[in-house]
Amino acid sequence: MPFGHDMVHSLAVVVDLVNTSPSTGGEDRLTDLQELGDFVERWQISGIGELGAADLSQVRALREAFHRVFTVSDHATTTTWLNALLSETRITPRLTEHDGHPLHVHYFAPDASLHEHLSADLGVALAHLLVENEWERLRTCSAPDCDNVFFDESRNRSRVYCDSRTCGNRMHVAAYRARRRV
Ligand SMILES: [Zn+2]
Ligand SMILES: [Zn+2]
Repeated sequence: MPFGHDMVHSLAVVVDLVNTSPSTGGEDRLTDLQELGDFVERWQISGIGELGAADLSQVRALREAFHRVFTVSDHATTTTWLNALLSETRITPRLTEHDGHPLHVHYFAPDASLHEHLSADLGVALAHLLVENEWERLRTCSAPDCDNVFFDESRNRSRVYCDSRTCGNRMHVAAYRARRRV
């Protein structure tokens, strides 16, 4: 801490991607090219050509792989998995300024597909998180009916809900009602 803007951005993309999966308890929100296009637009993922069915199936598979990193607790497994992901991805670090963003590093190869782009940039961000010993900040929501994942940026790593306004608020109301009942 504090994390660089690129790191925070990449982790927010991982979290959003994983949370589109029904594995996190909600509806599948990455079912067609329209939803994949929305995802690309939402995160201003640059250098992506026209998207096709292959992009959709590859990104859906990557989403499940990223979900595993939130549930694996031992670092040896995470290290092996991240090395496998990075070794299968073409990585070309280069400095860039585009679309009004300050100078930052892109890791994906210049002609990368969406899946390669995400594997490279998000894989590198996760590798740095592991190296910096901040892996425990990748969490799953504590609400019993929600398995959304989140990245805990709080100073004392105290966050337990994916969203304080929804799950956090809901759980506080439930706790309040339970106290009133006794
Ligand atoms: Zn960029
Ligand atoms: Zn939640």
